[in-house]
Amino acid sequence: MKTLSICAPMYNEKEMVPYFFEKIDEVIKKLSSYKVEILIVNDGSKDNTLELLKEQKKTHPNLHIVSFSRNFGHEAAVSALLKYSKGDVVCIMDSDLQDPPELIIDMLKLYEQGFDVVNARRINRKKDPFLKRITAELFYKVISKLSGKIKVPDNVGNYRLLSRQVVDHINNLKEKNSVFRVQVPYVGFKTATMDFVRPPRLKGETHYNYKSMFKLAGDSITSSSTQPLRWSLYLGIILGTISFISFIVFLILRLVGFSTLIYFEAMLYSFIVLTLSIVLVVLGVVGEYVGRILIETQNRPLYYVEEEIKGDLDE
Ligand code: UDP
Ligand code: MG
Repeated sequence: MKTLSICAPMYNEKEMVPYFFEKIDEVIKKLSSYKVEILIVNDGSKDNTLELLKEQKKTHPNLHIVSFSRNFGHEAAVSALLKYSKGDVVCIMDSDLQDPPELIIDMLKLYEQGFDVVNARRINRKKDPFLKRITAELFYKVISKLSGKIKVPDNVGNYRLLSRQVVDHINNLKEKNSVFRVQVPYVGFKTATMDFVRPPRLKGETHYNYKSMFKLAGDSITSSSTQPLRWSLYLGIILGTISFISFIVFLILRLVGFSTLIYFEAMLYSFIVLTLSIVLVVLGVVGEYVGRILIETQNRPLYYVEEEIKGDLDE
């Protein structure tokens, strides 16, 4: 019998724990042809999420709990889920039921047809706040421009089903600056996509604010492409050409008798300001990459595990 790992990270999800298990139990009942492991990473919750998980362990011998020593963030939690999962098929999802667990049944059908990756794509962005929708759209546009041959799909978050071989390949990627939604398409393999309507969070609050989304966007861009570094070269060439042409134009105007000094000064001033700001932006972009090189060379562990309670699949 094949095994399925249902994996979710939890950070301060005390209100979601009972609902999550209730929903997962309903799905497991319908999966008679799989042995199921439930793997939860407790990402340093400050509330009693861990105690509630231990409570669930009494009725769920197949529950495997990995508890971090502090909050390491969603991406680190997903990395741990992939490392600790043992199933032949691995499903990664959020624990707030925004990734509806009943979808797993249809995702498994696609896996059984031979797909190694089954993505769940959300199709109801329209209900999101305007700013979130625009920034998300921009994010996927920029990423797809930058990632070249790798197709990072639109509106696919972390909800996915992966075959064991894909999970192993992702686990073998050594980068610290990892972004799950970029790693999956990087690895490749036969991929199917299922659409779903993403419901609002049932209980509790989102942990993502604009700052953390900005960080995710930065990590995704720097981990998928070095193209932004090349843009500074192009910008330099363009600016150099413009300044050379304008110099020639002003010189000719001066030679044919126009007094162009005042225009020349105005143009010079705006040109200097423009160039300076571009130089600072370019420096910032380079800094983003340098910062990430530091993180890679430090080579610190992505997370520390304080407590692990194994499930019956480990025995
Ligand atoms: N999460 C986590 N660590 C964090 C933040 C979030 O493990 O530092 C988990 C959280 O418990 C949830 C998932 O990541 O299962 C997605 O978080 P959230 O629902 O807050 O994000 P949103 O759906 O609003 O993008
Ligand atoms: Mg959520």
